Amino acid sequence: MTIGSMLINGELYHGDDSFSVVNPATGEVFGHAPECRQAQLDKAIEGAAGAFYTWRQDIELRRNALKHVAELIQTNCDAIAHLLTLEQGKPLDKAKSEVRTSSLQVQFAAAAQIPVEVLQDTDQALIKLVHKPFGVVAAITPWNFPVSIAMGKVATALIAGNAVILKPSPYTPLSTLKIAEVIKDALPAGVLNIISGSDPLGAALTAHPLIRKIDFTGSVGTGKRVAAAAAPDLKRFTLELGGNDPAIVLPDANPKKIAKAIFWGAFANSGQVCIAAKRLYVHESIKEALTTELAALAEQAKVGNGLDEDTRLGPINNQAQFERVTTLVEEAKGAGARVVTGGDALGQGYCFQNTILTDLDDNARIVQEEQFGPVLPILAYQDINDVVSRANNTHFGLGSSIWTEDLPQAEVLAERIEAGTTWVNQHLALSPLAPFGGTKWSGVGYIGGKWGIEGATELQVINIKRA
Ligand code: NAD
Repeated sequence: MTIGSMLINGELYHGDDSFSVVNPATGEVFGHAPECRQAQLDKAIEGAAGAFYTWRQDIELRRNALKHVAELIQTNCDAIAHLLTLEQGKPLDKAKSEVRTSSLQVQFAAAAQIPVEVLQDTDQALIKLVHKPFGVVAAITPWNFPVSIAMGKVATALIAGNAVILKPSPYTPLSTLKIAEVIKDALPAGVLNIISGSDPLGAALTAHPLIRKIDFTGSVGTGKRVAAAAAPDLKRFTLELGGNDPAIVLPDANPKKIAKAIFWGAFANSGQVCIAAKRLYVHESIKEALTTELAALAEQAKVGNGLDEDTRLGPINNQAQFERVTTLVEEAKGAGARVVTGGDALGQGYCFQNTILTDLDDNARIVQEEQFGPVLPILAYQDINDVVSRANNTHFGLGSSIWTEDLPQAEVLAERIEAGTTWVNQHLALSPLAPFGGTKWSGVGYIGGKWGIEGATELQVINIKRA
């Protein structure tokens, strides 16, 4: 049995209460994580508030500490990745690459510049703009990429001079708690606290008066609750929420050439990616050809236990999500959708067959809602204006993609899509040069690069009269 420890004000705590963690590949409990009590939450937040005043003053100290954190994550990659596969389900090579990415994110943040802009420098006045940390930041993460989402948030907040309370999802706490153990001595006590608990802990954290900023990634429903919880204290927040990305294939696209990239754009991490392609609109002239190619890829990609070497795609992460995906597929079948391939559970933990559905209505829930599982609905269209309005007819606005040989046309079309990112001939292609965030219900604020630093700081104008 694996048992995690929280990191509170520089000390590791097993906690008095715990909750169980399930391996989604088997459906069985394999570990326990501490259930953080109110007194421990208070201690973590008060410790962070105390550590903040020294931490914010010295960027070189912060750079060196973060470089050390990055090295420790890299050195302990295998142990963290093993836990990540056990609790999240993803194949071990993908877990290792998530941990390596996290180490790189921390290294990248360690080198970030916190800008000071001079707005006026004349005989009359010096006006400059400084970016200042908020204080104690609450970082709350989901279960799909628990390590990389956590370390991206933590590293950005810390380099900007904030202290952080990190709370992972109760479905995937152990890889994050392993990081707590590994980096314990690399940061001054209190600067980073890592706590675990079931969902009410997230609410208690966001309601705490000493939290000044909430950096949240998760579902739209919880994101709205976080925004409401922030309101009484006017806490700042960044919300990275759900998506229902449309991918639009124009009639000139070559099905054989694009099928692989579309397949992995939809099924990576078993579809449990906020920016996975979740609705595929294909021009009717090539719909059958592309559907056949995608079905072949779906059948080839072996679903199973992430610890087995030949597994390409792991299980759905948890029982509630497994039941949701199953219900959405059953509803679609009941309404007359054609199951091109898959369509059922594998009968092994929360594994679900890679599933491709077609001949369904735009109003089907699996088209309207974020399925967040290994299922792709394929819809035909005839007219480009019609498909743009169908793609935009949603509260979501995270990612999107257009597939065509005609790049100038794609560039024009891209601007008509309501989304935080629109890719052309690719999906899921995040760039360290670009901000990442959603429009409409998919989020508030941006992460990545200078936009991430802006989100982790607030502005102060210093205006000095010289004459
Ligand atoms: P979720 O909203 O259920 O939970 C996310 C986190 O919020 C968990 O740590 C949970 O314990 C915590 N939480 C629950 N109730 C809370 C409350 N009242 N106050 C504060 N925190 C609370 O989401 P999930 O099921 O873990 O994650 C899947 C969702 O996350 C999907 O919708 C996915 O699209 C989205 N997501 C978005 C991005 C992005 O960058 N936009 C990235 C990854 C995942």
